[in-house]
Amino acid sequence: MPEIIGLIGGSGLGDVLEKRLGKVRQVKINTPFGLPSDNILTGTFAGRQVAFINRHGRGHRYSPSVVPYAANIYAMKKLGVKSIIASGAVGSLAQNIKPRDIVIVDQAIDKTFKRENTFFDDIAAVHCEMAHPYCDRLRQTLLKAADKVKTKVHKRGVYVCMEGPQFSTRGESLMHRKWGVQLIGMTAMPEAKLAREAQMCFALVALISDYDCWQEPKKKTDAQMLLAEIIGNLNSATENAIELIKAVLQSKQMLCDDDCPCRKSLQLAVWTPKEQINPKYTQILKVLRS
Ligand SMILES: [Zn+2]
Repeated sequence: MPEIIGLIGGSGLGDVLEKRLGKVRQVKINTPFGLPSDNILTGTFAGRQVAFINRHGRGHRYSPSVVPYAANIYAMKKLGVKSIIASGAVGSLAQNIKPRDIVIVDQAIDKTFKRENTFFDDIAAVHCEMAHPYCDRLRQTLLKAADKVKTKVHKRGVYVCMEGPQFSTRGESLMHRKWGVQLIGMTAMPEAKLAREAQMCFALVALISDYDCWQEPKKKTDAQMLLAEIIGNLNSATENAIELIKAVLQSKQMLCDDDCPCRKSLQLAVWTPKEQINPKYTQILKVLRS
């Protein structure tokens, strides 16, 4: 069976990519963790089989705190997806990471506190290894295609995920810079944690929309113009990210394989003995382990 590649579109890419898919079929999936953000669209992109979901739902209905991350990841896994490329709009906390650039994120700090961040609360005590939250093999595959896009693609970046929905205060923005963080956004977590719990390879392509608020704008710009500039940056980064993903898929190589550590994340992580786990959860465990 051909590999089905999962694509999760965040702000920007979420609304654009669905229009570029071929042979689209809408798949409605209910999961033990509720309904996903929207129907999953299965179809083709760059000649490959893909399953696509718009993280915020069509019409941007879900704010980052209420996105059904667990349902989205579980539904993808149920469809047979084992590798996911996700996108997200972020602010840059580093001078050299400019608006319209792309970053293949390698690290994350999770400051979210209102979200369901595990599949296992009711099932068992499960402790997945998270030292490297993004699949390194998938990241390298994306980086190999970096010369196919016009914009700068940065090899790494630390992403701090805040709860939101408000943007940072200037005090927070300056503090995050001191932490050694380069990117700030609201959706990286718990998505990556849930993908790890579902034994999936997961990479995040960050689209830079602005410099957050640590940097005062050089010229006085009115709010409307500033917003138009941010949207322009995001649209440009989105087009470049689509080119990057297209280049990766066109290469025809397997994005990752079952030898990857991400695909074995539950092997040593379940601390509850099998006989203590209620059999009613067997099907959920089967999907997550598949
Ligand atoms: Zn992997």
